[in-house]
Amino acid sequence: MNNGTWRNWAGTESCRPEAIVKAESVEQISEIVADATRRGVTVRPVGSGHSFAPLVPTDGIVLDLSAVSGIESLNHSSAQATVRAGTKIADLGEPLWDEGLCLRNQGAIDAQTIAGAISTSTHGSGLGLKLLSGEVVGAKVVTSSGEVEMIGFNDPRLPALRASMGMLGVIVSLDIQLEPKFKLRETLEFRPLTEVLERWDELTHNHRHFSFVHGQQYDMSASLPPLPETSKPTLVRIFDEVDPDTDYDGSPAHRTDRPYRIYPDQYTPPWEEVEPFVPYNTALDAIQSCLHVLERFPDTFPLEVRTAAGDDAWLSPTGGDAAVSLNTVRTWGNDNRAFFRAMEEALDPFPGRPHWGKQPYLRTADFYRSVYPFWDDFIQLRRQMDPSGTFLNAPLRRLFD
Ligand SMILES: Cc1cc2nc3c(=O)[nH]c(=O)nc-3n(C[C@H](O)[C@H](O)[C@H](O)COP(=O)(O)OP(=O)(O)OC[C@H]3O[C@@H](n4cnc5c(N)ncnc54)[C@H](O)[C@@H]3O)c2cc1C
Repeated sequence: MNNGTWRNWAGTESCRPEAIVKAESVEQISEIVADATRRGVTVRPVGSGHSFAPLVPTDGIVLDLSAVSGIESLNHSSAQATVRAGTKIADLGEPLWDEGLCLRNQGAIDAQTIAGAISTSTHGSGLGLKLLSGEVVGAKVVTSSGEVEMIGFNDPRLPALRASMGMLGVIVSLDIQLEPKFKLRETLEFRPLTEVLERWDELTHNHRHFSFVHGQQYDMSASLPPLPETSKPTLVRIFDEVDPDTDYDGSPAHRTDRPYRIYPDQYTPPWEEVEPFVPYNTALDAIQSCLHVLERFPDTFPLEVRTAAGDDAWLSPTGGDAAVSLNTVRTWGNDNRAFFRAMEEALDPFPGRPHWGKQPYLRTADFYRSVYPFWDDFIQLRRQMDPSGTFLNAPLRRLFD
């Protein structure tokens, strides 16, 4: 137990809770949650604290799940694994590879816990690949009474749990759909933006992963090809699947390696970030709208554009269909609200559904209700599973009570 201050990775969110408790077992989690519910105290689960949104801060208990980690079991015939909630994505790659298996996709870092990542709908790139939460086939959850419940594949609550930001209970383990191991061949190239947009459908459909970053180059650790002579280069990132026996190649910007070594990059805080998703078929117009906003705010870092398949999560930012995410980053410390508001206004017509972990300022319940058809169903289920509101902090209570 620690009575100090909790801060997120970026240092942009903090709180001084009653206690920060590092959970070590399911029994201990049940006792803590049941006791908090009896006392009317809030419990907010936390993974690696890599969200930019005010999801964790509370004056109650911050429940750190990072020690509840490791692969609990593997089923080779279904290519599924039961993974403890606090397992870092970085700690899954090698043990799964040794068993002939891989996560189907990952984001740009691997420091997140598996439960934290799925709870905010974390994603990588790839039109044929769902958000990480879409690969969840079951979960074990401690509810606000302290009871342990299994939520299986056919349980009607599973689509609600997929992106629930810790509001339906403390996830203690997740059953994850994997796939047989494969390798990735990376292509990092600077190309003219006009070419990328003209070939958009071909590029997004013909590669397992396609994304691009447009603007001044930012602080990432990948080895890049020489920068072209333009103030706004466009870096294309393609990862194609190849046979797992393909030889390792460490050539900068053209590596061939195991996927868990290709996906993650390294970034340095602090910054604030927003990432709305728009329907795939509106992407080219939405990208132009973002670029107009970036012209008005030239000190913004580059625009990163990725694709994702639709999924059935009630609060999925994909809205259930193929989608495109538009990520922008501002250095922390400036007055960023004007920029974030301009992005919201530019993307509302499409509509833009924000990534749950990347909203420094949450929007209104009316807005969310207008873009999530299952918004009220989620609130109804949340009230059933947590009638005392144990898992609501102040910003979430404003939206979900
Ligand atoms: C440098 C950087 C790069 C990033 N890159 C990407 C990217 O490429 N793609 C992308 O989609 N996102 C990305 N993100 C966002 C990040 O993936 C999400 O914010 C993710 O939720 C972080 O995981 P975490 O373990 O830190 O979760 P936390 O931030 O600790 O928690 C996130 C949410 O999950 C809940 N939660 C955590 N553990 C549990 C549990 N056991 N049970 C129930 N609820 C729980 C918390 O209450 C909270 O609501 C990035 C963030 C950073 C800082």
